[in-house]
Amino acid sequence: MSRTEELIREAETASARNYGPLPVVIERGEGCWVWDVEGRKYLDMLSAYSALNQGHRHPKIIAALHEQADRLTLTSRAFHNDQMGGFLRDLCRLAGYEKALPMNTGAEAVETAIKLVRKWAYKKRGIADGKAEIIACENNFHGRTTTIVGFSTEPQYRDGFGPFTPGFKLIPYGDVQALEKAITLNTAGFLVEPIQGEGGVIVPPDGYLRECAEISRRRGVLLMADEIQTGLGRTGKMFACEWEGVRPDVVIVGKALGGGVIPVSAVLADDAIMDVFNPGDHGSTFGGNPLACAVGRAALRVLVEENLPARAAELGAWFMEQLRKIQSPHMREVRGRGLFVGVVIRESSGTARPFCEALMRQGILAKETHKQVIRFAPPLVIRKDELKWALGPISEVLAGKGVELAAA
Ligand SMILES: *Cc1c(COP(=O)(O)O)cnc(C)c1O
Repeated sequence: MSRTEELIREAETASARNYGPLPVVIERGEGCWVWDVEGRKYLDMLSAYSALNQGHRHPKIIAALHEQADRLTLTSRAFHNDQMGGFLRDLCRLAGYEKALPMNTGAEAVETAIKLVRKWAYKKRGIADGKAEIIACENNFHGRTTTIVGFSTEPQYRDGFGPFTPGFKLIPYGDVQALEKAITLNTAGFLVEPIQGEGGVIVPPDGYLRECAEISRRRGVLLMADEIQTGLGRTGKMFACEWEGVRPDVVIVGKALGGGVIPVSAVLADDAIMDVFNPGDHGSTFGGNPLACAVGRAALRVLVEENLPARAAELGAWFMEQLRKIQSPHMREVRGRGLFVGVVIRESSGTARPFCEALMRQGILAKETHKQVIRFAPPLVIRKDELKWALGPISEVLAGKGVELAAA
């Protein structure tokens, strides 16, 4: 048995079967490259679902991690620590909000935003207790808690996990008329991804976010943007909402906020909204811990100092242009923004999975999302020559080379 097979067997024996990973065992990473236990090298084009925008082990982020780990790692919020203020100030300045509430994972930050908007609805909008409604979109992905999967439209995410939290309403993504119609006097917020990532890299029609913002403002509803995957440079702007000049009332960030090192998430809003929280209303043992704050601050600094959003815009536009030139009987469409790219495989060619397996054998790690879509989202520190190299194997695989097509 190879080392890879041995390690996979070990993991599969001891772990719950809630994932179906590609059969590669990674032991080291640097920048946009990773190495497996057999010494093979791969270009990481998933970036841990955009949690690695700054690349693997960015030296400045690792230095901040070491320095902080040698001083203080956790206090809980029962006491102050000397790192949280500076981190949240930097985050607020970067995003243009007055307040931030730190959590750990993305799903926790989404839950926090839901609690925030509900409380705001009761305390500030005067909605009758227990009646607040939040509108979300079909095909959404906001995390895996029971409340969040309760308003998912992906049957597998819900199957076997009910009963679910009430108070959510679903509308089609990209449809402003549907938003206008769905709002009632009890609507507190509209939760939306600027681009649906897990849903298959779905870019909404031009003007969608702008019109949603206008409708929300006019109807007294808070616009809640889940920028966990689209934010922090991925789409070619620091936040994807900037593409339409939209400033949401509530912004949710995570993933790359932890610089690919530890889970760090946050909810951003102005005082008039955030001040509904009082001591004891909400919390997290690890939220705002000094290690996370030191890492988060370094992660933000790297995004700014290395101009990563601009790199994503430039390289992403070029990369998509090159992908569109590929001659492939299997490729239906290339879509995306910045370095957030989806290549859609025709249903007649089967699913995207065997294409991802073929890419893996050629040294490129990418993962299918929503059966038909290969997502290409490399670390934003990637260089043009590295992307250029990737186009070789990608062209061959999209042409069918090495792809084990399952019988349809
Ligand atoms: C990944 C993701 C989440 C959930 O984040 P976790 O850290 O996995 O809990 C929520 N929303 C979006 C848009 C995401 O991409």
